[in-house]
Amino acid sequence: MNQIREIHALQQLVDRCDAAFWGDVEPQVLAGTRFALKNICTERKINRNVSNRNPVMSETLELPRSKSPNLPTTMKAAVAHAFGQPLKIEQVAVPQPAAGEVLIRVEACGVCHTDLHAVNGDWPVKPELPFIPGHEGVGIVEAVGSETSLVKVGDRVGVPWLYKACGSCEYCITGWETLCPSQQNAGYSVNGSYADFVVAPEAYVAKIPDGLDPVHAGPILCAGVTTYKGIKETEAKPGEWIVISGIGGLGHLAVQYAKAMGLHVAAVDVADEKLELARSLGAEVTVNANSENPIDQVQQQTGGAHGALVTAVSVPAFHQALGMLRRGGTCALVGLPPGEFPTPIFDVVLKRITVRGSIVGTRKDMQEALQFAAEGKVKTTVEVQPLSAINEIFTRLENGEINGRVVIQP
Ligand SMILES: [Zn+2]
Ligand SMILES: [Zn+2]
Repeated sequence: MNQIREIHALQQLVDRCDAAFWGDVEPQVLAGTRFALKNICTERKINRNVSNRNPVMSETLELPRSKSPNLPTTMKAAVAHAFGQPLKIEQVAVPQPAAGEVLIRVEACGVCHTDLHAVNGDWPVKPELPFIPGHEGVGIVEAVGSETSLVKVGDRVGVPWLYKACGSCEYCITGWETLCPSQQNAGYSVNGSYADFVVAPEAYVAKIPDGLDPVHAGPILCAGVTTYKGIKETEAKPGEWIVISGIGGLGHLAVQYAKAMGLHVAAVDVADEKLELARSLGAEVTVNANSENPIDQVQQQTGGAHGALVTAVSVPAFHQALGMLRRGGTCALVGLPPGEFPTPIFDVVLKRITVRGSIVGTRKDMQEALQFAAEGKVKTTVEVQPLSAINEIFTRLENGEINGRVVIQP
């Protein structure tokens, strides 16, 4: 209510300035109004871009950028200088937020397998060196650039993989910004959050809901939203069966999202302790694909799943998932092992099977995924480490020695 009153008061002040511009107000009233407007904006950390509204005011009323006092000029960051080489922890300049951007003091950043691919230059389109990886960064907004209005100093936000999209292509305007061909990606095509500070466009940062701590919010920004969106993409509905194939960093979140969304869950993995974890998170059926035939087991125990989400980085899991579906079922793929898998044409055609890839999620998917976490329905198993340990973390990640998610803190 207070905020609405403030906005109303501000609007009245702006209107008085406008009236002054058209000659209806005495000069001293105008001067007083300018002064009051400036004070309110400064006090409330509101960064008004008044220049578009009134050309006179833009000359005479220079509103300060909102920012916390005493921001340093240099910061610690983990920087990739050469592909396949360890990251260097070094001092670099604190980035400045451009128009529409905000500066965030990083509190935590999840470590994703994609960061390792980025640093190793594994993918056809490589990041430009040097760069700072990290796309699960969460922190507090410390300064805002000009032309910002959605995010203010003191807000807690996340900087996800979908750092920015064009906003006007056929994908962006139809709710598929994740497919925007002009998108930029945090920690890949632009610097990410393996640092004390990161800048990001205010329109694409994720607002972290109250009650969700930064360490647990981080992994939701990539692992969480990826699995949540992937489950939606299977089109399985409450009361129906979904198979979660692979109960690792993504899969343990997928089981929780699926349960929170009212689905019955069958979990498939090759490690008994992972299946144990899936059971503790609510999976009703668990199948060890090493010791049992996962297709027969899932078909027998569920009658065939309505949806399957493949998070495993193992090619056979993709082929198996198709066999676990019932007629009309949909298989969504989020795991990214290199290679191809056989697709039985006869089954796909006669059973009307759908196979689709799924990559991260839109800003709306992100809001929903974070909200489930804020309500305690989804929780990542996390291990907190200092930023300085990043190279050892990468080695463990490469060797498959990490359970859940490692989250680094600067
Ligand atoms: Zn990721
Ligand atoms: Zn676009």
